[in-house]
Amino acid sequence: ATEIRLASRPVGAPTLDDFSIVDVERPEPGEGGVLVRNLVLSVDPYMRMRMSEAKAYAPPFEVGKVMPGGAIGEVIESRSAAFAKGEVVLHSAGWRSHAAVPAEQAVKIDTDAAPLTAYLGVLGLTGLTAYAGLIEAQFEEGDTVFVSGAAGAVGSVVGQLAKLRGAKRVIGSAGSADKVAHLVDELGFDAAFNYKDGPVAEQLAAAAPDGIDVYFENVGGEHLEAAIDALNRNGRIAYCGVISQYNATEPVPGPRNMIKVLHQRLTIRGFLVGDHTALRPQFLAEIAPLVKQGKLRYRETIVDGLRNAPQAFLDLLEGANTGKMLVRL
Ligand code: NDP
Repeated sequence: ATEIRLASRPVGAPTLDDFSIVDVERPEPGEGGVLVRNLVLSVDPYMRMRMSEAKAYAPPFEVGKVMPGGAIGEVIESRSAAFAKGEVVLHSAGWRSHAAVPAEQAVKIDTDAAPLTAYLGVLGLTGLTAYAGLIEAQFEEGDTVFVSGAAGAVGSVVGQLAKLRGAKRVIGSAGSADKVAHLVDELGFDAAFNYKDGPVAEQLAAAAPDGIDVYFENVGGEHLEAAIDALNRNGRIAYCGVISQYNATEPVPGPRNMIKVLHQRLTIRGFLVGDHTALRPQFLAEIAPLVKQGKLRYRETIVDGLRNAPQAFLDLLEGANTGKMLVRL
């Protein structure tokens, strides 16, 4: 068996040296548990936050331990009446080839209903993040919505779902011309721009001449300031993530236009998907049929080989992915 461990805490941008790849004995399933051979692993921006020492919303990952994270695999040994050999399960034991998982931490996946990779993305926590964030933002039909990181796993669901639910206009930003074309041509965004092409405030103002009502924040910094400028009265921000700041080694300056929160009666709402797992049944009831009917599209960027998980993570932070970043074993 093989596992990927956090070798050291990155300072600034992580490097391959922050990870170690270790061959270990195959684990044994515990009493009442299962042994899972992993098939696909999730690679996520939040991992960067938890690689740092500073206390965030959850304890830091431990140096010398396996990188935790979402994974899906096949049960190859079962000591639980609830699981049979050959069944496919979702768990969070992270970046390893084999995982001994207690039964209560494994969730059966219906691979007939959707491809198993979807359960780590559009039908998994990233899809649920988009779903919960639109609730937090009190999204309503007729709203104009701007989402940053729009070609990513969360952002691509946010934009499409808002559109399907009757948004007046949906605008996305992303970091390449290909991603911008994907948003408009394939995902049905009304407008999109490459934030690397020029000031975000100018590009957003051009894309949203009547302002915006909801900003779904995935990026932070210049994007947040631009969104605050563009928000209409009673506008709302779903504060989901700030990926432009996860490598920061110094406190990051706030938006210079905070007074507009007052002028325009804005709401900034931070949220964590982990607080919204009770939404999962209603989320799946709404999203799974849309995915099946092809009304809600999703892309995945799949990297082959457990040993390439660290590089996939570094690439995710550089924007190499469109849609969900995954590692296939
Ligand atoms: P993505 O699939 O969006 O991948 C990350 C993307 O971020 C990259 O593809 C890249 O795209 C973009 N990016 C990287 N650096 C920058 C930068 N400096 N400026 C602008 N964009 C950048 O990841 P997820 O969909 O999984 O996550 C999106 C956001 O949602 C993250 O902020 C994450 O932390 C947050 N999140 C929050 C959750 C919560 O519970 N609150 C749960 C899950 C995710 P590009 O080419 O466009 O630059």
